[in-house]
Amino acid sequence: MINVNAHAVFSPEGPFKPTTIERRELGPLDVLIEIKYAGICHSDIHCARGEWGPVSYPLVPGHEIAGIVAQVGSEVVKHATGDRVGVGCMVDSCRECDSCHKGEEQYCLRGNTGTYGAIDRYGQYTQGGYSTHIVVTEDFVVRIPDNMELDAAAPLLCAGITTFSPLRHWGAALGKKVAVVGFGGLGHMAVKLAHAMGAEVTVLSQTEKKKEDGLRLGADHYYATGHPETFQALAGSFDLIINTVSAKIEISAYLSLLALDGTLVNVGAPPEPMSVDVFSLIGHRRSFAGSMIGGIRETQEMLDFCAEHGIAPEIEVIAASQIDEAWERVLASDVRYRFVIDISTMGS
Ligand code: NAP
Ligand code: ZN
Ligand code: ZN
Repeated sequence: MINVNAHAVFSPEGPFKPTTIERRELGPLDVLIEIKYAGICHSDIHCARGEWGPVSYPLVPGHEIAGIVAQVGSEVVKHATGDRVGVGCMVDSCRECDSCHKGEEQYCLRGNTGTYGAIDRYGQYTQGGYSTHIVVTEDFVVRIPDNMELDAAAPLLCAGITTFSPLRHWGAALGKKVAVVGFGGLGHMAVKLAHAMGAEVTVLSQTEKKKEDGLRLGADHYYATGHPETFQALAGSFDLIINTVSAKIEISAYLSLLALDGTLVNVGAPPEPMSVDVFSLIGHRRSFAGSMIGGIRETQEMLDFCAEHGIAPEIEVIAASQIDEAWERVLASDVRYRFVIDISTMGS
């Protein structure tokens, strides 16, 4: 076993404390990554606080990982020592089921292995990227393009792919009207990506506080959902709505903003169920859908797309000692637009 430094929570309430965790010795297909940066995703908070169900502690969250390959196993062919690489929300899957064969490992029929909080095929409890090193099988490691900064690459491994995948799947492109609900980590990536794909983009945020940013980052329009007239003004407008909100919202009100045959895709993952007024669907043949991250091949495509279009998240780099404070700010929707932990502040 390899002992590495990490920051973990020891209970749902936290706080974070420095600790050491064990990584497995390198198998023939494993890659040892020296983590340089780890993004803070709202899912880290939902999960660590037990909102999605019980988890074991200590828990080291973090599934937006960017770093450098420090060592490779004897049979590794995809990555070499010194390569700039990333790891997202999963570190393995069964590789045998229909979903895995389609390259949609996130929908593995036996369940993908989460980067943290899961039991892997070796029977070990997985621990995430708020740590100095991680060992991952080569197929679940992606290449970070040369012209991309490592700190800015980190959030793409979850926020980037989670918005890229549904935008692609539901055909965001020139001539399509796309709305993004919630302008946080995922939301701001959805805006940048949809804009780069050629769509006409509208931000639907609770307030007008971030309007200037929204328009600067690629939105054509920006509305506050706190104003009831927004829903009247935009009724029947959009081909696609991506809901990135981390809390339960009145989903039927948003469904009424879809045009004929429009789709609202939920990527936000609040723990509470949301109810749908079926009349908001049947009147205009609308769909209500969900989407979870993206497969490994698509994650690489997304990184290459971002490199080609010069797309990077807006980040605030913090020290490991500031994780608790950053989490509070995420919960208060006070993040512009992704916190990224500088792992060098964790000791080596
Ligand atoms: P985030 O940075 O906190 O952004 C969420 C945004 O939702 C906030 O910035 C805020 O936007 C809006 N919001 C928050 N509370 C709200 C409320 N009570 N009512 C209305 N709007 C509210 O979070 P994130 O990291 O982007 O993650 C967003 C959600 O996606 C989380 O639930 C996360 O677990 C989930 N997620 C899912 C996947 C997947 O694979 N499906 C992957 C990653 C994350 P405004 O200030 O603009 O209103
Ligand atoms: Zn995430
Ligand atoms: Zn599978």
